[in-house]
This record gives sequence, structure tokens and C-alpha cells, in this order.
Amino acid sequence: MSSKDKIKTNSLQLKKAEKCESLDEGTFAFLNWMNCKSFDREGYDQNPPLILKYVDFPMVGLVRLFDRFLGQDVFVDIVDCVPSCKVCKTDDCSHVGFTICLLQLIEREGFESMDDILK
Ligand SMILES: [Zn+2]
Repeated sequence: MSSKDKIKTNSLQLKKAEKCESLDEGTFAFLNWMNCKSFDREGYDQNPPLILKYVDFPMVGLVRLFDRFLGQDVFVDIVDCVPSCKVCKTDDCSHVGFTICLLQLIEREGFESMDDILK
């Protein structure tokens, strides 16, 4: 690889990292939520930036989150296993990152209801 290509690759990676940042934030928010979901309601109020409110079981086609930064509910549509955020109108925001983690968890654990997720 020439040094010119290297620079090009580096700047591409930088750009990509920036773009993924919000997805990563969603992943982080999901982990944050997972860590405190077993806590009492106060834990919900204090810690996670995003909170899962509703999953459209059994065929997950809609996820509803509460975004504490925005102070509003956020709906994420899932069409053909691809989440897209109705608020940000994109597929790479933190809400989508959160939803991707959630879908992976549901599939891995075989969850079938909100109760499964929250227990
Ligand atoms: Zn969003």
C-alpha cells in the first residue's frame, strides 16, 4: 500500500468512525440499560440515556424507546430485520444501535415477550 493510499484509508476510517459514533452510543446505551434494568424504577430514571418501553412481539416489527435526552418516545421500525428510526429518519442513529443490540439479545436468548426481556 502506498503512503498516499494509507492516508486515504486512514481518513476513510476516521470518517466511518464518526458516522458510527451514534450507533456505538446506542450500543453503549443498551449496555447501560441492561445493567440497570434489574434495578428499581429509580434506576431507570437515573441511569440509562435510552430506555426500552415496548417491543412488538412475537414478530418484532416495532420497538419503542424513551430517549431521555430528547425527552420523548422514539419509534424504531424493523422491516426485513433492518431497523430504521422514525424520529431521526435514519438507520444509523443511537436508537437503531440500541435496537440492533436488542434484536440480537432477543434472538440469542429466544425471548418471546417483554416479560422475558425485563426479568
Ligand atoms: Zn434515532
